Amino acid sequence: MREVDVSLITEAVKGLCMESNFDLGQDVLDAFKRAKAREESPAGIEVLGQLEENASIAREERVAICQDTGIAVVFVELGQDVHLVGGDLNGAINEGVRKGYQEGYLRKSLCHPFTRANTGDNTPAVIHVKIVPGDKVKLIVAPKGGGSENMSRVTMLTPAAGKEGIVGYVVQRIMESGSNPCPPIIVGMGIGGTFENAALLAKEALLRTLGSENPDPELASLEGEILERINNLGIGPQGLGGRTTSLAVHIKMMPCHIASLPLAVNIQCHAQRHKEAVI
Ligand code: SF4
Repeated sequence: MREVDVSLITEAVKGLCMESNFDLGQDVLDAFKRAKAREESPAGIEVLGQLEENASIAREERVAICQDTGIAVVFVELGQDVHLVGGDLNGAINEGVRKGYQEGYLRKSLCHPFTRANTGDNTPAVIHVKIVPGDKVKLIVAPKGGGSENMSRVTMLTPAAGKEGIVGYVVQRIMESGSNPCPPIIVGMGIGGTFENAALLAKEALLRTLGSENPDPELASLEGEILERINNLGIGPQGLGGRTTSLAVHIKMMPCHIASLPLAVNIQCHAQRHKEAVI
């Protein structure tokens, strides 16, 4: 058993909250560049250029990529041979979020659902823990903006809807979302499992590197088909028209009940922020 003091987790989460908000991943920057080369609309090209410039200023000056610095979603892969000492895991993660948002001058975006009173420190974080083989702790911090999260949906299709029903639902969702999720977007899809599984699969799908191929050839082909349908909608960067409504569609799938076809669509805006660390 390897002992890991939770203070290391607090420090790592603090740093990841700041880095994810300041430093857009190279895969996202590369996707902007590819989209700019393909884009036909002058307004779309202009917006993509502004997004590149914005990301570069944020990285150099260590300021947030977007004023909406998000709810802190934290994925933990906890090795089963790790013994955490010095405190509890959730407490350590929340302390890291508290410190990261305070020291990074990041907006605190969490509030009571009814009174709308701000919690004051961007906690509690949304924490997903998976127990995995090994003696390491992997942490991924993915701040999630409200605009794109609001456009996301979970639905329970009838099994007869099949692939066609899935494609139709997703394309319709993106069309109805219009410019609200700050396009160009990344579309995370979770298919199968149960109601809550589908939602988590969709969010996990967003963590995949942009430009990487889905290892399942059937899903890779479905991603391509949906991406093309979405980019034919003409919404374009920031909704100003163009071919780049979505940079990518990512799908995760698992078996489901014979009576069900759960489908989740988690929309991610162009501020596709996530950073990871391994302890
Ligand atoms: S949806 Fe994304 S880009 Fe739009 S305001 Fe929120 S975090 Fe920023």
